[in-house]
Amino acid sequence: MEARPVLWIVVPCYNEEKVLPMTAPLFIRKIRQLAEEGKVSASSRVLFVNDGSKDRTWEIIRETAEEYPECIGICQSRNRGHQNAVLAGLMEAKDRCDITISIDCDGQDDINAMDEMVDKYLAGAEIVYGVRSRRDTDTWFKRTTAEGFYRLMKAMGAEVVFNHADYRLISAKVLQHFADFGEVNIFLRGMVPLVGFPSDTVYYDRTARLAGESHYPLRKMIALAFNGITSLSVKPISMISTFGIGFSLVGLILMIWAVVEACLGKTVAGWTSTICIICLLGGIQLISLGVLGQYIGKTYLETKHRPRYIISARTWEKEERHWIEEE
Ligand code: UDP
Ligand code: MG
Repeated sequence: MEARPVLWIVVPCYNEEKVLPMTAPLFIRKIRQLAEEGKVSASSRVLFVNDGSKDRTWEIIRETAEEYPECIGICQSRNRGHQNAVLAGLMEAKDRCDITISIDCDGQDDINAMDEMVDKYLAGAEIVYGVRSRRDTDTWFKRTTAEGFYRLMKAMGAEVVFNHADYRLISAKVLQHFADFGEVNIFLRGMVPLVGFPSDTVYYDRTARLAGESHYPLRKMIALAFNGITSLSVKPISMISTFGIGFSLVGLILMIWAVVEACLGKTVAGWTSTICIICLLGGIQLISLGVLGQYIGKTYLETKHRPRYIISARTWEKEERHWIEEE
């Protein structure tokens, strides 16, 4: 028998009793179709991660798992949020498959893009990012805030793929290295590019949710952006130093002006000295805060214990992917 990669589709689910019965069969059908076309192994699976749902989600996952051999599920002890649910699924999958595709369970991401993702993997990519080509179906508000999110991330020094959420293919090889990123504040779309390895992109149209409601209102989106920026970048800290230097320069000009005014006798007694002290201290304080911040930022990054290097190939090791074997 010809060998093919084993694919695990990782699907986080939180309070999704409305949409899961509609989308679960779609995922199963997709994995069967990919297997029939010979792109992935017949032992591929759909892994549902129940993120501590308070409704019937876990029961639905168990029922689906009984009905379809391709379906399996894991349950988190409590709700930990989308990013952690995806991570739990990926870590569960990494030793049991060759490739993973993470996707939301609400049917918003076009599952047909998986074909192209697998093709790109077979062509050599280890990570394939699903990128939304259009957002017509999102409301104007969601679209504007979501695009503002990516711009803000970029401006703050957190590198992310524009309009890419958490729909992506990652090979088990990359996940093995990803497991070395020991941090607890997880922002997957910023961390995955840090691992390196050849990557590619697949464009797809994002549609509306099939049922149920979004768990990402503006408040959570801002929290996610803030978490992403602060866990990936210490740029906000350098901004304090830059601001301090700018403030000091302006302060210097103000001081010269105040002294000139005093010499011209245009001021009341005590004004010049007060202005000079305010300008001087303001600048010194901001610069000092920035310097302190730089050390705190470094300490913060050090505490993450991220791998300092990742080797992608060795001449004495077989280059082929391990699932390629003889007949
Ligand atoms: N989700 C999760 N845990 C949470 C919140 C959301 O696992 O605490 C899952 C949810 O079930 C869905 C995915 O994350 O599969 C994305 O959530 P949602 O569709 O509500 O976000 P949106 O697409 O509106 O940004
Ligand atoms: Mg959604």
